Amino acid sequence: MRSTDLDNRHYYCHYLQWPTAVGHFSKEVRSMESLESFRQEVRSWLEENCPASQRLPRDGETPLPWGSPQAVEDAKLWLERCANKGFTCPSWPAEYGGGGLSNEQEKVLRQEVAAVGTQLPGMSFGTHMLGPVLLELGNEEQKRRFIPDIIHNRLTWAQGYSEPGAGSDLAGLQTRAERVGDEYVINGSKIWTTGANNADWMFCLVRTDPDAPKHDGISFILFDLKSPGVTISPIELISGASEFCQVFFEDVRAKAENLIGEKNKGWAIAKRLLQYERTMISGMGGGGGPRGGAKRKRVAKRYRSMADMALPYVGEKDGKLADFALRDQLTQTEMDTICLTLTTKRVGEEVKAQKGPGHTASMFKWYATELNKRRQEILTTALGTQALGWEGEGFQAHELAHTRGWLRSKGNSIEGGTSEVQMNVIAKRVLGLPD
Ligand SMILES: Cc1cc2nc3c(=O)[nH]c(=O)nc-3n(C[C@H](O)[C@H](O)[C@H](O)COP(=O)(O)OP(=O)(O)OC[C@H]3O[C@@H](n4cnc5c(N)ncnc54)[C@H](O)[C@@H]3O)c2cc1C
Repeated sequence: MRSTDLDNRHYYCHYLQWPTAVGHFSKEVRSMESLESFRQEVRSWLEENCPASQRLPRDGETPLPWGSPQAVEDAKLWLERCANKGFTCPSWPAEYGGGGLSNEQEKVLRQEVAAVGTQLPGMSFGTHMLGPVLLELGNEEQKRRFIPDIIHNRLTWAQGYSEPGAGSDLAGLQTRAERVGDEYVINGSKIWTTGANNADWMFCLVRTDPDAPKHDGISFILFDLKSPGVTISPIELISGASEFCQVFFEDVRAKAENLIGEKNKGWAIAKRLLQYERTMISGMGGGGGPRGGAKRKRVAKRYRSMADMALPYVGEKDGKLADFALRDQLTQTEMDTICLTLTTKRVGEEVKAQKGPGHTASMFKWYATELNKRRQEILTTALGTQALGWEGEGFQAHELAHTRGWLRSKGNSIEGGTSEVQMNVIAKRVLGLPD
């Protein structure tokens, strides 16, 4: 970053009233002369600002139970502090409230965050899907309107892609939007919309030219889910929870200024967002994100690792799992996880140096989510009938959590496009095979 950029950063921060987004670092660090002093500064900042309940406990500390009122308050505070610093989106431009960090600085930040045993908070559909797309393809007003709210988690987003007749064949979507004055009037419905009942706004794919070939008549638009004409119906799952919704639109009015990119050119934006989504899912489900390795080591210290978790159910002999086949599967899965983590890290760094993720996102999404399913299946085998509990005194908390995690992992390879769809993308776009 050049000093002029930094000057602009100050200017825009005042303009946007982000008093604490930048300006905490010393002059040497801001001029990026020394990564080492940046590291020291980050380290002290983390020491001062990361609440104890938001990091792994140190020797002699008793962790607060997850979900306790104090831990919830601390989580809010941690989010607020990181957002004010731009650390929820470290590499985003500081002019919109992001951290404005270079790749090297972000790497240092993440190393220090991992060393403290915490995570940068605020991961959301906004930070990992819509935000990067807006920064790439939104206009200046749209960035100024939405990016700061995403960084601060002030607006939560739902993804309006799938429809009852359009999942894998997403371009077959039928929700219509017609231009009327300076608005679009939307009619139709979306399904499997994660968290729509708790979201503020939706980024939505709509058909704006019903006569064009199906990929050509689609637009990408944002609107408030509290708009008149929006009905949100949670879909009850077998667990009784309602993660998904069906969302109906009846003459919903969205401002035309919130259409991203050009009218009828939304398909390219939709695909770009899916690349970001697939990257996010592969980092979560597979444990293979750039932070996966360090995180897993620390988590393993605090919680039971896969092997520890399996031990009580398969028996231990001379410090080794007695069941040879299970031991083999556990080892293979751990090795595959480490390989995925390293590959993701290497490719992630290459991708950062370029322009965000490409079609390889499908490879990682496919591999990471299938690996996660494999991991969950092995644990289920290891836990035996204890893995099949839903409630009741006969089960320990980690066993009940496993049952839910195992079932949830099935959705990993469906959301963001199924594994079969990823294989189609890999065949066509990565390997260059004919249709
Ligand atoms: C946990 C979860 C969260 C989700 N969240 C959201 C959300 O927030 N917003 C949203 O819009 N959607 C969301 N979805 C929906 C998701 O994107 C779709 O379920 C997915 O794209 C598949 O579409 P479908 O369910 O219509 O299945 P279909 O497309 O009907 O597919 C059925 C089966 O046919 C296979 N198939 C279909 N076409 C092909 C092909 N060409 N080649 C090979 N096999 C094929 C599929 O792989 C699948 O096995 C979510 C889904 C899940 C599971």
